[in-house]
Amino acid sequence: MRNTFDAVVIGGGLLGSAIGFGLARHGLTTAILDEGDIAYRAARGNFGLVWVQSKGIGAPIYADWTMRSSDLWSEFALELQERTGIDVIHSRPGGIHICLSEAEFEERARKMMTLGGHQKEKFTHEMLDHKAMAEHLPGLGPEVVGGSFSPHDGHVNPLRLMRAMQRAFGDLGGDIRTDSRALKITQDGESFSVQTKGGDISAGRVVLAAGLGNRDLASMVDLDQPVRPVKGQIMVSERVQPFLNIPTTHVRQTGEGTVMIGDSHEEVGFDLSSTPRIARDIADRARRSFPFLNRVRIVRTWAALRVMTPDGLPIYDQSESMPGAFSASCHSGVTLAAVHAMTYAPYVAEGKLGRELAGLSARRFDV
Ligand SMILES: Cc1cc2nc3c(=O)[nH]c(=O)nc-3n(C[C@H](O)[C@H](O)[C@H](O)COP(=O)(O)OP(=O)(O)OC[C@H]3O[C@@H](n4cnc5c(N)ncnc54)[C@H](O)[C@@H]3O)c2cc1C
Repeated sequence: MRNTFDAVVIGGGLLGSAIGFGLARHGLTTAILDEGDIAYRAARGNFGLVWVQSKGIGAPIYADWTMRSSDLWSEFALELQERTGIDVIHSRPGGIHICLSEAEFEERARKMMTLGGHQKEKFTHEMLDHKAMAEHLPGLGPEVVGGSFSPHDGHVNPLRLMRAMQRAFGDLGGDIRTDSRALKITQDGESFSVQTKGGDISAGRVVLAAGLGNRDLASMVDLDQPVRPVKGQIMVSERVQPFLNIPTTHVRQTGEGTVMIGDSHEEVGFDLSSTPRIARDIADRARRSFPFLNRVRIVRTWAALRVMTPDGLPIYDQSESMPGAFSASCHSGVTLAAVHAMTYAPYVAEGKLGRELAGLSARRFDV
């Protein structure tokens, strides 16, 4: 079995799969090492939004990076389909954030103005009152005051996305090793050695993309990844007739007809249990937005852990003392998959992150 590569990516979730695919696409022999089924995996429990409105409010670099990914997404989805035959069911019909009170509406309007201020030429949105919103969303409840619409948003099937990226990676000669927890990373000259229980892997580049695992791995390459878990719960309904052809922040109808309900945030450490109180809160918001959901059965609920940084912005770094070592952590791995594969990975391949990412280094947290 081959044990020497141009690059090794640690973590086979959404970030690792996107970056691994991007490196292989760039012509690098690449291995992805993944810990396996015991791991905390945001990649398998998320909501599937490719979301621009609300990303980077007060942080223009993140707003730009998100917009860049959203703009690349259609081309990315098409390339995955051409390479693998897998339709990731991406669409970009725009997205809506629903407001259930005047106070929510005013706060939303302020946030959208701020985001528009960061990206004067690019970001567009409309604040819609109840009547205008009902034209987009049939079945809207009377309690809905209005909300924001942005044409840049979309959604995708996140599990198909994972499968497509991993298959495309494999087809390009990439090597995915499961049950391969990275235990130790060392550098000898220009080569890194990653120790796993199945043996050592050597590579000229190493990318930490291990989600919450990055926190412990970072110090091995003289970096810092101060990530913490933030729990989100999701409910999924039985299949219903198509009623929602535009995703909203809390409710979206999938290509298969099920309705996903979510967007809770809890700071409870590594607890992955589903809790009735939170489930009731998110169901309540969904029912008030679309009253007919009262008659729809929930068939599944789960909780998953977001990979959260101290300020909510992604972290991208390269090690100064161990050149060739890179890291990536974020809580928008679906949205950013396109830019991770098509922009971030080529930066890693060429050995230098783009200047636009300088402000997203973890050095911003240094006092
Ligand atoms: C409830 C919820 C809803 C979300 N909704 C959205 C959304 O709508 N849109 C969006 O863009 N994002 C969303 N996200 C965020 C998105 O899912 C994450 O950004 C993304 O999954 C993070 O991917 P990751 O690869 O960094 O981490 P993970 O998916 O957690 O994967 C990390 C991988 O690293 C591996 N690993 C860890 N340590 C090691 C080690 N030492 N050696 C080898 N492997 C290791 C693990 O096995 C794991 O497979 C949501 C997240 C949650 C929890």
